[in-house]
Amino acid sequence: MVGKKIDGKWYIRLQKGEEIISSLLDFCKQNQIYLGTISGIGACSPATLGIFLTKEKKYISKTFTGDMELTSLLGNVTTMNGNIYLHLHATVGDESLNTHSGHLSAATISATGEMVIDPSNGTIEREKNEEIGINIWNLL
Ligand code: FE
Repeated sequence: MVGKKIDGKWYIRLQKGEEIISSLLDFCKQNQIYLGTISGIGACSPATLGIFLTKEKKYISKTFTGDMELTSLLGNVTTMNGNIYLHLHATVGDESLNTHSGHLSAATISATGEMVIDPSNGTIEREKNEEIGINIWNLL
């Protein structure tokens, strides 16, 4: 993982074998990024994507393997209990050019990852919303 800051944005290259979420979390910790947006493209395998079941209040996930383009990675950096917290969604495209998408649980870079983090000053804390079952932004 290497990054370069240009015009206030971090351009980050993830290397083959690096897990996306843990790498970006490490990057945010190393560079004191507590708030911002994340976007990216690249290639990954495997990738575990999920969906939150609102009735059951739980995530289910599925792991995809084989060559996949990371056609879109989108998400944000906030904090929860003062700790950096990443929320990422991904769309991956397989050899048939079909896509799978969802809440990103884990994905490993298989060729390269080209990520951009656009940091902001300040913080947004998350709080567990018991009614919904997920950690939501507290903007008060
Ligand atoms: Fe999500």
